[in-house]
Amino acid sequence: MIDRSRLARLLARERDAFRAAHPRSARAHDAARTLIGGVPMTWMAKWATGFPMYLDGARGARVTDIDGHEYIDFCLGDTAAMAGHSPEPVVAAVTRRFAQRGGSTAMLPTEEAADVGAELARRFGVPRWSFALTATDANRWAIRILRAVTGRPRILVNSWCYHGTVDESLIVVGPDGRPASRAGNVGAPCDVTLTSRVAEFNDLAGLERELAHGDVAAVLMEPALTNIGIVLPEPGYLDGVRRLTREHGTYLVNDETHTFSAGPGGATRLWGLEPDVVTIGKAIGGGIPVGAYGLSEPVYAALAGRADLDLIDTGGVGGTLAGNALSIAATRATLHEVLTDAAFAGMVEVATVFASGIEELIHRYSLPWSVSRLGARVEYRFATPAPRTGGESAAAADPELEDLLHAYLANRGVLLTPFHNMALMCPQTTVEDVSRHHEVFDEALAELAS
Ligand code: PMP
Repeated sequence: MIDRSRLARLLARERDAFRAAHPRSARAHDAARTLIGGVPMTWMAKWATGFPMYLDGARGARVTDIDGHEYIDFCLGDTAAMAGHSPEPVVAAVTRRFAQRGGSTAMLPTEEAADVGAELARRFGVPRWSFALTATDANRWAIRILRAVTGRPRILVNSWCYHGTVDESLIVVGPDGRPASRAGNVGAPCDVTLTSRVAEFNDLAGLERELAHGDVAAVLMEPALTNIGIVLPEPGYLDGVRRLTREHGTYLVNDETHTFSAGPGGATRLWGLEPDVVTIGKAIGGGIPVGAYGLSEPVYAALAGRADLDLIDTGGVGGTLAGNALSIAATRATLHEVLTDAAFAGMVEVATVFASGIEELIHRYSLPWSVSRLGARVEYRFATPAPRTGGESAAAADPELEDLLHAYLANRGVLLTPFHNMALMCPQTTVEDVSRHHEVFDEALAELAS
């Protein structure tokens, strides 16, 4: 289908063009020798352009780099900026808290926190909330709590999931159908198959087989996979997960960190799901670090009766900066004033236009690709029909093709998330932005096909 030598040639050309147009970013990158991988966080080196453009500023759906280029940003910090970059109400709330009143981390609660808890409870349907600084930590702490209340040792996740750097989640269904550590897992504390079980998404038989061991404290899952393309649940799958987890005495955690794109209460509310625990992070802080987890009343009651558990000091669930006044102020402003029902309605409308345009182009070029959408999030994958499981989706990966499309887009002022082909809409993303993406995408496909 794809001429690989043409693909390699085009990618080299695009990387050369990027280097020529980004001398200041190149210098900044070359100068960063004291940083591991030359970047403050190693994944920042993953941009398809060979080295990253360096951030100058960002507002709404736009990013500017230090070489003077402006980009339409569909990456949006891999969802952390789904509220748009530096939204005005969050800037005001953060300024009020940090500059005017003063204080972000004083080991004291603010009055605002209860309001944030109430709003999260209203949106996601679980009533008792606590805070972290990242979604990773929210997941870690939820797992600890559910192990403690069930007395069961294992966690079950879907193959090719991503829930942050949570040790228990770095497991896949291997090529022989048996559970295996994810390739490249750095310094795992022990063999992940001792702590975890795994089933493919959309595979109820696999889930039932694994739960039947009777040792799974919790299923930690996204209601749709979003980190290996978007894999949507088939009809009846999520109901089946809920039924089976209940039958086997296993708690169900919905990680809404990315599926929050589905709507104001994430996929949990959109699809009427009934998880025991909800975890979330990234976008709810409007650009300020925050994570949160919410417990159902029964989980909370089971926990409250356990005087043997140290939930306050050094018992494994805690962070000095978690729940800080700045994160809480930012989250309150984001939920009440930015990622509102009306904002989601607009974002979903724009995302629908994005998805149908991609579909049209896939059809026009007769490509064996597919496009999936989850609310404000759209992703195309190099497979058709759309993959049903993480394993199928992983098998459809084409890193070189992905790199070409990403570099091509970046050189023409459009950013996608560097990890896969995800495009996310924020409240300021317009249909004109989408048209620009499609125009460049069309150009790239035409060059590839010619
Ligand atoms: N959960 C999901 C579903 C995620 O996609 C991610 C990160 N991509 C995380 C948790 C972890 O978020 P963080 O890296 O901000 O802790």
